[in-house]
Amino acid sequence: MMTGPGEYIPDPTEGITCVKDLPQPQIVRRRRSFKRRKCPRCGHSAVRGKTFTRTLHDWGDVASNRPRDLVITYSQHHCSPCGKYFNADLSDLAIPNSHYTKKRIESKIADLFDHRHRLVQHPLTAAERKTLQRITRGQPALRALRQIVDEVYRLFDRRCRTDTALAKLARLRQRVSRFQGLRHTLNKRFSPTLEKALTFLDDSLLPATSNAVERGNRRHRKMQKTVYRVRTGPHLSQRIAGDMLRDAQAQGRSQTTQTLHYARAG
Ligand SMILES: [Zn+2]
Repeated sequence: MMTGPGEYIPDPTEGITCVKDLPQPQIVRRRRSFKRRKCPRCGHSAVRGKTFTRTLHDWGDVASNRPRDLVITYSQHHCSPCGKYFNADLSDLAIPNSHYTKKRIESKIADLFDHRHRLVQHPLTAAERKTLQRITRGQPALRALRQIVDEVYRLFDRRCRTDTALAKLARLRQRVSRFQGLRHTLNKRFSPTLEKALTFLDDSLLPATSNAVERGNRRHRKMQKTVYRVRTGPHLSQRIAGDMLRDAQAQGRSQTTQTLHYARAG
């Protein structure tokens, strides 16, 4: 039976509690066993000594719902001039000591990079939260980072009082200091000005601000600054009078512009 996009396909591994009952991986065999290889140190052509196998976890097969493992047979060579052993080159398949294929690790890194802003984005939709869960799988430090970010957002929640926020901040600082790797990145959390910033939460007169509105006002504010900066009192009052006059005539002016516009368009 064909399955179309959006169709729910139950995961056959759902409810399995015993590792033995999980689907067996598909084995893909690769050979990297050579009679002779050039020594990477001196270039001497060294004969094969032993062969070994190495298992790498690749992306699973979606069609059969089974994981896929790459089993590589590779040769070990002994270089007599150097007196050292070396293995056949597998660097195109995996980095040294890795249990996963290069392909799988690279796509995991690319995924994390593409969605890196999900770590700080606020708020997250259900789908974005799911993406975040996927990209941080097996990365407890990144999940902890997102939890800390969430706590910072809660700190500035207008619904809570300064006291509550300060208690939250104390807990947050304790948490951050436990993560050695994150301490340096998040050292702004330890700034003493942060406590002072939180006192705004108790101010009942302070309205919630909108970034879009402030941005709209910025142009006007900036223009006023350059206009008024170097003028004297009398100049200022003349200026204000001029502005008021302009504002009062604004409606009529736009009407005229519109009429002209229509007249010319025919
Ligand atoms: Zn050598």
